[in-house]
Amino acid sequence: MADTVFQKILNREIPAKIVYEDASCMAFHDVAPQAPTHVLIIPKKPIESIDQIADEDAPLMGHLWLVVRNLAQELQLDKGYRVVVNCGDQGGQVVDHLHLHLLGDRALSWPPG
Ligand code: AMP
Repeated sequence: MADTVFQKILNREIPAKIVYEDASCMAFHDVAPQAPTHVLIIPKKPIESIDQIADEDAPLMGHLWLVVRNLAQELQLDKGYRVVVNCGDQGGQVVDHLHLHLLGDRALSWPPG
């Protein structure tokens, strides 16, 4: 299967505004931001979606949440923020590489569309 756009970002084949990287994950600004702050946090392991998370990925999943917490502090989202993970067609997932959307710096309505 062809590499996803996120795998190409991980491989440095296409550019991204990277805000964080470590051995197991990367975070970069969304190319089409839906809020003044819109960052995507992805595991380096090519997990397609929530449905493909393995039991052994539990520490990695926990790590992603700690990265979200740290980024929210660094990006000064002290008024609040939202983390979204789309899954599958009806969930609105477009890129088949697991990613957490971190959205902030504006009031976000509920329910989502
Ligand atoms: P999803 O609909 O949850 O799969 O979200 C995919 C997200 O990836 C969308 O918000 C896109 O704007 C974003 N996106 C697609 N291509 C790129 C790219 N090259 N760099 C940064 N974000 C991207």
